[in-house]
Amino acid sequence: MKRALITGITGQDGFYLAEYLLSLGYEVHGLARQTGLEHIRGNLLQDVPPELYQRCHLHAVNLDNFPGLYRLVSSIPFDECYHLAASSFVGERLADGYQTIQNNIASTHYLLAALNEFQPGCRFYFAGSSEMFGRPDKAPQDEQTPMNPRSAYGISKVAGYHLARNYRESMGMFCGVGILYNHESPRRRPEFVTRKITLAAARIATGGGGRLQLGNVEARRDWGHAPDYVRAMHAILNHDEPRDFVVATGILHSVADICETAFAHAGLDWREHVESTADFYREEEQVPLTGNAERITQETGWRPTVTFEQMICAMVDADMARMRTLS
Ligand code: GDP
Repeated sequence: MKRALITGITGQDGFYLAEYLLSLGYEVHGLARQTGLEHIRGNLLQDVPPELYQRCHLHAVNLDNFPGLYRLVSSIPFDECYHLAASSFVGERLADGYQTIQNNIASTHYLLAALNEFQPGCRFYFAGSSEMFGRPDKAPQDEQTPMNPRSAYGISKVAGYHLARNYRESMGMFCGVGILYNHESPRRRPEFVTRKITLAAARIATGGGGRLQLGNVEARRDWGHAPDYVRAMHAILNHDEPRDFVVATGILHSVADICETAFAHAGLDWREHVESTADFYREEEQVPLTGNAERITQETGWRPTVTFEQMICAMVDADMARMRTLS
């Protein structure tokens, strides 16, 4: 039985990855802050069959608790480590990003150093992000596109990517990097625009009223489905050689497209409920973030299976079901 360590198991991706690895027969160990543990335990207990949940072990170790991290990595042998934990709000101003930069880089470095010392054969996945390209000069981006991060989060991810690359090239560790574009699901946090919209559509459709305030509805992104993207993480670590891979759909949609799909699915006309406000505007983007996932498709066979429309409708359905349980 393979044994995997997931940092950031309480997040959207951590949950889906744990569920996926458990379904493949893995023993899964998850790291989380003490405060997040009860939450993930509840989610896993509710959504994962008990026979799978038995193979899931949760550890209350913060990533800045270096002795705790060393203790864990020196006492349990892992085949694969998925390093997903990171502070991750891209909208954060660079001037406020000290914690994001410091914590994200230091935790990646500590984890790599601990693994390299105690179990150099463990495969390491680093969760890269399209924010590493930041303001690219061409679209779509691929693994050769120069990095030009424009946020504290993006800067910390570029540094993590270089750390993983160095441990791969200088120390011989199997370090794979997934450069993931936006990926969403009913477990997405509400500050991200997809979930903000599906929640509002569900609330208004179930009689909760209110209006939805957004920033630029013409802003475009390459939105994929989180459960598809965790399959890519696993494919990257189970490839013959450690490499970097762009994981994307290659299809752009606007924020207005999300509104159109979500509100129509809830039986509403979005134009009657949505307004644009300067409060949520970000710096204008000249070249859109959209990825060319040819390398991962060719080398591992990975490809997305769920369309944008299917995903947004499923998110609205999940939010409607939640609203009905609450009311
Ligand atoms: P990000 O790509 O990680 O920043 O994911 P978000 O979901 O936060 O934002 C996706 C896109 O939606 C960006 O281009 C935002 O500028 C745009 N956007 C427009 N209105 C909003 C809004 O009200 N909230 C958020 N979060 N993003 C918005």
